[in-house]
Amino acid sequence: MFNLEIFSPIQPWQHPLFAEKGLNVFIKRDDLIHPLISGNKWRKLKYILQKAHSINKNHLVTFGGAYSNHLLATAAAAARFGFASTGFVRGEEVQNDTLFLCRLHGMKLIFVDRDTYREKQVLYERYFGDDQRAYFIGEGGASAEAVQGCAELVDELPISYNHLFCACGTGTTAAGIITGLSQHKLPTQFHAVPVFKNGNFMRNEIDRYLPFKADYTLHTKYHFGGYAKTSPELISFIQSFVATTGILIEPVYTGKMLYALYDQVIKNRFTPGNNILAIHSGGIWGLLGMKEKFM
Ligand SMILES: *Cc1c(COP(=O)(O)O)cnc(C)c1O
Repeated sequence: MFNLEIFSPIQPWQHPLFAEKGLNVFIKRDDLIHPLISGNKWRKLKYILQKAHSINKNHLVTFGGAYSNHLLATAAAAARFGFASTGFVRGEEVQNDTLFLCRLHGMKLIFVDRDTYREKQVLYERYFGDDQRAYFIGEGGASAEAVQGCAELVDELPISYNHLFCACGTGTTAAGIITGLSQHKLPTQFHAVPVFKNGNFMRNEIDRYLPFKADYTLHTKYHFGGYAKTSPELISFIQSFVATTGILIEPVYTGKMLYALYDQVIKNRFTPGNNILAIHSGGIWGLLGMKEKFM
């Protein structure tokens, strides 16, 4: 019932450096799943929507920053599958392209200051405690249902890759893919790229969803100063990537993850003949909040 037909082809990323090192690098285009419910956001929402529906809820309530891909994906998914939606937005009232698209899809927005925002359960109770048909979705959709949905990505892989790269915000997508790799007994080395400063905490965030001890690599040095921070080097990497591949990426998640992969190639971390897969987790609307960085 709650299904999108998954269109997520795997395409080669051709680059003279990869040819020189004898590496085959590919990108899984989860960004093509849906223009707004894109990439990992659809995978994360799929079983959340099913659960909400199964317990007779018809109103999705969730949380995010003013440029949140999760808010936008939830608004679009709610519209597509017949739910009402409300988004609590962190910070003072603003207008931007992301929030415009949320509203266009019928999402009601409630702006709350940062301290109030932190107490999500309290906020939810205050506004929706009496609404029997409202359904709480945590920030970023982080949940066991989201992990289950992301694990399905691995069902779609045609070969066993030596390495797999993925950007991390809450770490839910990473936990899902690691779960999928383990279910399929694949020997693939997983590389998680947190987009925050001090990303070591991400290991706890990922591991708490895993019923086993997973061996994966956490790359904590590719945050470029912190969440949504950039540098001229990252921007020029993105510009060159987009201009030479025709694949749109953005600086918050996919730009940092692909930069990490590229930098690991430069540092000779892979064996010639290796097949390396990067997950394009979508989120390209994030570019709209960062236009000035490209000028
Ligand atoms: C939300 C998002 C992520 C982070 O996913 P988590 O499951 O929270 O780690 C990664 N990439 C993109 C493009 C996103 O929008």
